[in-house]
Amino acid sequence: MPELPEVETIRAGLEPHLLGQKITGITVLRPSQLRDISPEELSTQLIGKTINRLSRRGKYLLFYCSSELILVVHLRMTGQLLYYSAGKPAMVHTRLIISLEPPAELHFHDVRALGQITLLNSKQLSNWRPLLLLGPEPLGPDFTLEYFQQSLACRRAPIKNILLGQRIVAGLGNIYTDEALFKAGINPLRPANMLSEAQVQILWTAIRQTLTTAVADGGTTIRDYLNSSGISGSFQRRLQVYGRKGQKCRHCGSELVGCRLAGRSTVYCPHCQPL
Ligand SMILES: [Zn+2]
Repeated sequence: MPELPEVETIRAGLEPHLLGQKITGITVLRPSQLRDISPEELSTQLIGKTINRLSRRGKYLLFYCSSELILVVHLRMTGQLLYYSAGKPAMVHTRLIISLEPPAELHFHDVRALGQITLLNSKQLSNWRPLLLLGPEPLGPDFTLEYFQQSLACRRAPIKNILLGQRIVAGLGNIYTDEALFKAGINPLRPANMLSEAQVQILWTAIRQTLTTAVADGGTTIRDYLNSSGISGSFQRRLQVYGRKGQKCRHCGSELVGCRLAGRSTVYCPHCQPL
């Protein structure tokens, strides 16, 4: 699933192409991926509008359009947004096409068809529950060390579950939680409130460093993720634990072990990340 670095890479790649572009057509090929809006209404509302800003919150992409309309896209497992400077025929997994002026197309491509698209006005967006429930951006000014310490102090769930939950901090998924916890030398099963002050500080730094490096690398491509130009990320070359269960720890040579947490496969080094 695309996480913060992948969604941010898509946002940054699309922004220069889309700003100031006018929407001239909407083709919905899979209506079930629209949330709370019909294909007809989506077309009626968006055609003729201009894209003014492209933003991201957690794993959500927000296309701010004229008339205070915001197209919200969540890519879920396999969603891709691909920009073509000329028209391109729909492929088998193309779910939605936005036609633009000057002539270009934005294709939403999604093999598993779990991604979701909705359209809100600015008032609806400010009350939209999925965004209200998100914690601060990990690379933003609100994710302070003091905030992180206070948030973890009263939570007994395993630290990995807390990081995946999006409520304490937004944007982390399975790849970057495993990598950040390895970098911090913290066992993913450890109850959040059992971390020492020093460990919380190390983890806070590790989360920010891991995400910053991954954004610079254009994200991680394991299977489906591509940026808006159809190019893979490169953070996969740096992965220390994610997807490496049974292989040797690159740091100490111990065999990496796996478990399941919050329904997600989790990999860690029992030596570098003792419980
Ligand atoms: Zn190790």
